Amino acid sequence: MNALLLSAINQIAIAEQPTPKPEPGRSVIKVLASGLCGTDRHIYKGEYPSNKPVILGHEFGGVINSPSPDCKYSAGDLVSVDPNIVCGKCIDCLAGRTAFCPSLIALGVNMNGGFAQYALVPDTQLHKVSNALNPLHLAFIEPTACCIRGLDIAAMQGGEKVAVLGGGVMGQIVAQLSALANASQITMVTRQRARRELAISLGATDSVDPVEKEVESKLQNYDVVFECAGVVETFNLAQKIARRGGSIVVLGLTPEKTMVDFNPFQLVIKELRIQGSFLNPLTQRRAADLVDSGKLRLDPLISRTLSLLEVPEILNKPPGQSDVKYVVVP
Ligand SMILES: [Zn+2]
Ligand SMILES: [Zn+2]
Repeated sequence: MNALLLSAINQIAIAEQPTPKPEPGRSVIKVLASGLCGTDRHIYKGEYPSNKPVILGHEFGGVINSPSPDCKYSAGDLVSVDPNIVCGKCIDCLAGRTAFCPSLIALGVNMNGGFAQYALVPDTQLHKVSNALNPLHLAFIEPTACCIRGLDIAAMQGGEKVAVLGGGVMGQIVAQLSALANASQITMVTRQRARRELAISLGATDSVDPVEKEVESKLQNYDVVFECAGVVETFNLAQKIARRGGSIVVLGLTPEKTMVDFNPFQLVIKELRIQGSFLNPLTQRRAADLVDSGKLRLDPLISRTLSLLEVPEILNKPPGQSDVKYVVVP
C-alpha cells in the first residue's frame, strides 16, 4: 500500500509499505479521510516529538476492512478513530483525565497513522458511526472531540456572550458548538476576512478584525473567550475582553517556549479563570455522535481534498491564508 512516511525530521515521502493484517485486539481499516493538521507540520519540522519512521495522520476514519477476531464491529462498518491510546489504569485515566496518562501514545505520532491506504487500529480506539455519514466528515471527529473538551471546560449554561479568537478549523467548530450551547452572542475575531464571513455564514452573530483601530472598545465584557489561534496577541487580547467573572479557555497551541503578558491585577479584580484544554479525554464518542447527527456544518470547512501524493508538497509550503481544512483521501 502507499503511505506518507516520515523517516527523519524534514524527510517525508510517499513510500510503499506492507499492508497491515489484523491481530488480536487490532483491526485493519481502509482509510477514507484523514485530516491534515498544524501538528503534522510541527512533527515534520521536528517541533513536536514523534517516533520515526512513522506514517503520519492522526485525524482519520474509514471502513473496517479486516476486523480482529474479537472486534465488536464488522467488516463494512464506518468508524472514527481516536488516535490517543491510554493505559486506562493509572490515576489520571481512572479520574477521567486521560490526556495526562503517562503512557499516552498516539496513532500518527508514535505509531503508524492515517496517511495511508490502510491502518492497523486497536479496537479500543474505534467508534462506529452510521454508514450514511459523508466519509470526509470522519476527518473532523478528532478535532471536534478536542473542541468539545474546550466547551466542557467553559461549562456554559446558555445565554453567554462568547468570543472566539482564531478562525481556523478549531475556531470554526468552537463557534458552532457555542451556538449549539445556546450562546446569546458569538463574535468571531480573526484577521482573514474570508474566515470571518465563513463564521457568520455558520452561525456566529458578528465578527471583528483584530487589527482594526480601537478593537478593544468593540470587544468588551465577554463571559467566555476561546483562544483558538495559539499566538501571543490573541492571548493578551483575551485577558482584556473577558468580563469580570469570565472565563478564558485556551485551545490554541503556541510554540513550546513562547511567553505572554499577564496582568495579575486584572486577574484578581476580574476573578478571571484561565484554563487550557488539551486533547480529547473521553470526548471522541460524543464527537462521533455529534458529527453523525449532521448538526455541525462541515462541508464549508473543507478547503481542499488531497491525494496522498500531494501531501509532501503541501507540507513544504506555508498554509494557505484563508484555507481552513485539507482532507486527504488516500
Ligand atoms: Zn490534529
Ligand atoms: Zn493511564
